[in-house]
Amino acid sequence: MDTQAQPVAPDFQSVKFIYFDLDDTLIDHKTAQDRALVDVWTQYPELQQVEPLVLASQYAESNRRLWEAYRKNEVSQSELRRLRFEETFRRLGIGSLDWREMDRVYLDCYSRHWDWIPGAREALVRISKQFPTGIMTNGFIFVQKKKFEYFSLNRYTRNLIISEEVGHLKPDPRIFSFAAEKTGLQPGELLYVGDSYSSDIVGGSRSGWKTAWYQPDGNDGGRDPENNLADLVFSGFAELLKIFQTP
Ligand SMILES: [Mg+2]
Repeated sequence: MDTQAQPVAPDFQSVKFIYFDLDDTLIDHKTAQDRALVDVWTQYPELQQVEPLVLASQYAESNRRLWEAYRKNEVSQSELRRLRFEETFRRLGIGSLDWREMDRVYLDCYSRHWDWIPGAREALVRISKQFPTGIMTNGFIFVQKKKFEYFSLNRYTRNLIISEEVGHLKPDPRIFSFAAEKTGLQPGELLYVGDSYSSDIVGGSRSGWKTAWYQPDGNDGGRDPENNLADLVFSGFAELLKIFQTP
């Protein structure tokens, strides 16, 4: 008798189309951002009065806060790109660096560190043979379109949706309904796979979609994985594939 624990298959029978989040779900954005900031650090002696990881963590904190302000329409895209450097430098006591140059050098370094999340490409290839798929991402058009091209995402997916094109960021229900309309399906027939509880899981669930929460380190702000809106919580893409395996 097989006594091994079996994965609890959620009710995904109704799913006819699967949308994926991009950053930190399919593509490892956090590592690319950290490595890009270390690259920038090595090029500017002015930055070297602090440790590279201190620079990276202060930038990440400012960037996260400014993205939240951008989502609420409190700052524009160009203000976000200026302030994430100006605020980081001010907080670390670093002066005399031009944010435009930092922005250009950073984005160039960032794109050189792009890579898949482990197992994500294989999962996307396999799932896209079984279901029509799409990408829905909060991001800037000029950056995200380069990622679509770099990772050849149009080979696997039908719909590539960027918040800047839609004019609303996740978890706003308007970007979810825009994505749903593109499929011609009902919300309950759509699955969203993403790593952010507040943007992806809350946004998807409130729009009536099925949701799968990618939680590789089991830690998204200390939220209890047993007590959440997601239909599935998974820590690696092999687990997601198991759900769709025909018995
Ligand atoms: Mg994400």
